[in-house]
Amino acid sequence: MKRIYMDHNATTPLREEVLDAMLPYLRSEFGNASSVHSWGIRARRAVEAAREQVAAALGAHPREIIFTGCGTEADNQAIKGVAFAHRKRGDHIITSRIEHKAVLETCEYLEKHGFRVTYLPVDAYGMVNPDDVAEAITDRTILVSVMFANNEVGTIQPVAEIARVCRERDVYFHTDAVQAVGKLPIDVKQLGVDLLSLSAHKFYGPKGVGALYVRRGVKIDPLLHGGHQEWGLRAATENVAGIVGLGKALELRLAEMEAEAQRLTALRERLYHGIVSRIDHVYLNGHPTQRLPGTLSLSFDYIEGEAIILGLDLEGVAVSSGSACTSASLEPSHVLLAMGVHPATAQGSIRFSLGRENTEEDVDYVLEVLPPIIQRLREMSMFSEHSPFPEEAGPRCVRTTKEHVR
Ligand SMILES: *Cc1c(COP(=O)(O)O)cnc(C)c1O
Repeated sequence: MKRIYMDHNATTPLREEVLDAMLPYLRSEFGNASSVHSWGIRARRAVEAAREQVAAALGAHPREIIFTGCGTEADNQAIKGVAFAHRKRGDHIITSRIEHKAVLETCEYLEKHGFRVTYLPVDAYGMVNPDDVAEAITDRTILVSVMFANNEVGTIQPVAEIARVCRERDVYFHTDAVQAVGKLPIDVKQLGVDLLSLSAHKFYGPKGVGALYVRRGVKIDPLLHGGHQEWGLRAATENVAGIVGLGKALELRLAEMEAEAQRLTALRERLYHGIVSRIDHVYLNGHPTQRLPGTLSLSFDYIEGEAIILGLDLEGVAVSSGSACTSASLEPSHVLLAMGVHPATAQGSIRFSLGRENTEEDVDYVLEVLPPIIQRLREMSMFSEHSPFPEEAGPRCVRTTKEHVR
């Protein structure tokens, strides 16, 4: 059976060249980068070389890059770091309703600790309006955090405009750029952002390592206390192999980024037009053009996203759901709901996220296997007493097993 991975916004495969760059630091070059002997010096050199790679990729100074344990940690570090360091100046934070959980739950945590948070709405394309940011800023506001590009629908935010608004009002601006780094050109100085998060495993690097850009002059409190690694901002022995992998992956990515963006946009459009020409009652989620090259989020009426995912998985195709329709949660995607998508339609959403290994053949294979899956599910939905059309039934999320899909 074919195995086609189209879930690159969840994670990406590790590149062979990146693994090769990492292996020495998992084998012979195992030194602690803080040690003064030659083992330590070689590890330190590797970490600092990676820091330069990351800084160069973002238009930053190496001193402005802190390595973290993941994208989630970078988001936590940015938001809690600014919040706790600038508490005296203010207690108000502004973010959006479509952020990744790493930002949303961090803000909710801060609300429990006395901060006030404004969650900005988005338009039908999932776009934050910079005027809304300007309006929400008060003299108590210390931080605005709006993501660069959304992981579910791919909408790219007007980051430079939001940064300008923040700068004019003397408020720090953080952007979760985990989905944007390696896909879109980013220059932190040109954009005027103060803090920016990234994560290696979203651009063909290893899992469990990320980085945070912190503009020189921006004071943040550390999350981890202990040793003096990363200028006292991230106590812990450095993950040398992971950091080397992050630097290498980003460097390789930048070299191919422009060509890949064009190629993936064309593949994505082939997939989209192929699907809408074969299947009725399908809707595109996210901005038609201001969107990540490989991201295609679609809602299918009358069925559940999870059932489509299982059906595609049986054909060897990996995609993911726009909804968190798991046993633990019956909630549809907070992103789609914030965009005003009907809850029942939101339940019928899936996200294709294309990447390096995907080809036209892969897309054509999906176009062949998807229509019968949708047709079968819709027939089941029509004849099942449990799942009539959503308009009649309202929001629902019936557990689906592989047996149902067959
Ligand atoms: C994946 C992702 C994260 C979390 O990064 P991890 O390295 O998996 O912790 C944060 N924000 C966005 C937008 C993401 O896509």
